[in-house]
Amino acid sequence: MNLLDMVKEAGIVGAGGAGFPTHVKLESKAEYILLNGAECEPLLRVDQQLMELFPDEIIKGFEAAGKFVGASKALIGIKGKHKKVVSILRDRIQELGLEGFVEVKELPDIYPVGDEQVLVHELTGRVVPEAGIPIQVGCIVVNSETALNMYYASIKEPVTQKYITVTGDIPKRLTVKVPVGTPIIDVLKLSGIENFDNYAVIDGGPMMGPVMSNLDGYVTKKSKGFVILKKDHHLVRKKSVSLEQARRVNRSSCEQCRMCTDMCPRYLLGHETQPHKMMNALNYNLTDIEGQKIAQLCCQCNLCELFSCPAGLYPKSANMYFKDKLAEQNIRYKPKKSEFKVRKSREYRLIPSKRLIARLGLYNFDKPAPMTEVDVNPEFIHISTRQHVGAPAVPIVCVGDYVELGQQIGKIPEGSLGATIHTSISGTIVEIEKDFIVIRRD
Ligand code: SF4
Ligand code: SF4
Repeated sequence: MNLLDMVKEAGIVGAGGAGFPTHVKLESKAEYILLNGAECEPLLRVDQQLMELFPDEIIKGFEAAGKFVGASKALIGIKGKHKKVVSILRDRIQELGLEGFVEVKELPDIYPVGDEQVLVHELTGRVVPEAGIPIQVGCIVVNSETALNMYYASIKEPVTQKYITVTGDIPKRLTVKVPVGTPIIDVLKLSGIENFDNYAVIDGGPMMGPVMSNLDGYVTKKSKGFVILKKDHHLVRKKSVSLEQARRVNRSSCEQCRMCTDMCPRYLLGHETQPHKMMNALNYNLTDIEGQKIAQLCCQCNLCELFSCPAGLYPKSANMYFKDKLAEQNIRYKPKKSEFKVRKSREYRLIPSKRLIARLGLYNFDKPAPMTEVDVNPEFIHISTRQHVGAPAVPIVCVGDYVELGQQIGKIPEGSLGATIHTSISGTIVEIEKDFIVIRRD
């Protein structure tokens, strides 16, 4: 079995939050393979600790993937501020005799340096075309936890556990490893809070993660962190605004100052993303479809809404409004050129993470969340059949079956994009629903 088959068998998906099936990335040949260890979402502490705790496994998984796709260089991107981790990685690369192939490159402490397209530029100087993906400029990007999972796949261990940071306005900040399928509430309670009536929870990082409408969900392979804040925190209120409310506010107050565009990371890469134009189109009911297509170039990093706009408006939501309308009509943006150059002003408009954290009102919570061993043993786990990009996994077990930890319980539907799923505990299948397979611990 080659690495691609082992990764497919292990059910690996992008652990950075996107959930794209990793084996599909390995089908391409690339000049560079890039490790995304930027972890640019404020407060999250998973990748930086994994690289410190499991450097050999991550480097080996990354090296194997790099060799498999025929890369001539494997670049690890990590923020230079993590000096200790940078030094550990460099030492281990040398010790493993990989210094000619694997290299650590230090990233600036800016947001969103972990955005795939920003990362590609920071590490290689190349610019991914509009509406494109890194392979178009010879790059494949994998997250650090994904590289760790690839190492485990090579020793026949599938993805059954997930590393998660629990942080925010809580007594105990920590990073834990829990079984996929664990009730989220069990993970949240590790924070030292029992009653969440006065709290809101952001699923993921504070910039891109949504506020959870309820806490009834289950950990998936895509879970990365939970940010727990008081319900009246400014960030929670801002992120809880509906698209319709945002549209009403946007229509009344945009000054067309362009700050949202001038600081947009995709615009600065030389793309046509220009949220101020979407605000204008919204305010004046402009019907120029051609002009609206640039809304599709937004990566939803939220910088314009949570940092750039001096009036506190919702330019990303304006993008989303037009993006949805165009999707309904199946209209797609077509780039007018294939080569892009970053804008000259880019270097002066990069947003330091510290300033962003202060603006978000998270300064007091920007603290360590150390990796901690915890005992989370839920009686029932719910394995989602939809924890990846593509078609849902098809159950290959029946109610009443006994399954062993790590056993495959769902396969990729024939001819579809998808990922296999495995049970994260030993026990009995008690329910098979449309979206979940439920297993009782025995
Ligand atoms: S949305 Fe805000 S930043 Fe953008 S043009 Fe309007 S006022 Fe300026
Ligand atoms: S969310 Fe705003 S800043 Fe981010 S890519 Fe979209 S338009 Fe640009």
